[in-house]
Amino acid sequence: MSKKNLEVAPCQICGSHSPQLFIRHLDYALFECPGCSLIYLNPMPTLSEIEQIYDDAYGGTGEGYFLKIPQKLRRARKRVSRIARLVNGGRFLDVGCNGGFTVAAAHEQGFKAYGIDLDAVSISWAKEHYPSGQFVRSRIEEYENTEPFDVIYCSEVIEHVANANDFIAAIVARLRPEGFLYLTTPDISHWRRPRDVRRWDAFCPPSHCLYFNPRNLSKLLEKHNLTVYRQFLAFKPGIKLLAQKKN
Ligand SMILES: [Zn+2]
Repeated sequence: MSKKNLEVAPCQICGSHSPQLFIRHLDYALFECPGCSLIYLNPMPTLSEIEQIYDDAYGGTGEGYFLKIPQKLRRARKRVSRIARLVNGGRFLDVGCNGGFTVAAAHEQGFKAYGIDLDAVSISWAKEHYPSGQFVRSRIEEYENTEPFDVIYCSEVIEHVANANDFIAAIVARLRPEGFLYLTTPDISHWRRPRDVRRWDAFCPPSHCLYFNPRNLSKLLEKHNLTVYRQFLAFKPGIKLLAQKKN
């Protein structure tokens, strides 16, 4: 093993200690795990670096980000109605809730709906526009709520976190037995992903620091007492799935 590899953190999913360089891009180096093909940034950004990225995530929030509200609500309603076929009401948490669209859709479908996000602008926008939801600026790891949730929804967030195990463990700790996790993230193994990964819109280190495929994502979830219940067909390079917490 080269000296360089000794400095690279082991794979978060399978623990392999011999990652191979996947690509260097700008100031960043990404490594691929030979065991499970997880691709990850090394070194990972610190928490304060991540918070800085988020504070600026929707730069010009008022102008651009919230313009596509009807589309966002439509998509949220479609996704929540899929979930509502399995879970009839109950407690719903959106981790990384942005402007609260999915929380609003969940409320419409009879859930008691909560949302958390790191971005203060998104949280205040959500509070103002969707008073039926309960919004808090928080990471899942620090989020406190009195009762477990029936559904946790987490779309396009896990690729941003530095420690996927802590993140999933924090979600599972807040889910009731047999509760559902709806999870989406980019799929680096997808047949429609550009061959030159640098041309893929989801390739954006350091903001995205973990790049999954459906197999290693399932393996990560299994480690945390979740079973993949259904994987949805994705025409864009993404993974969309529902997982269920074991009893
Ligand atoms: Zn691995």
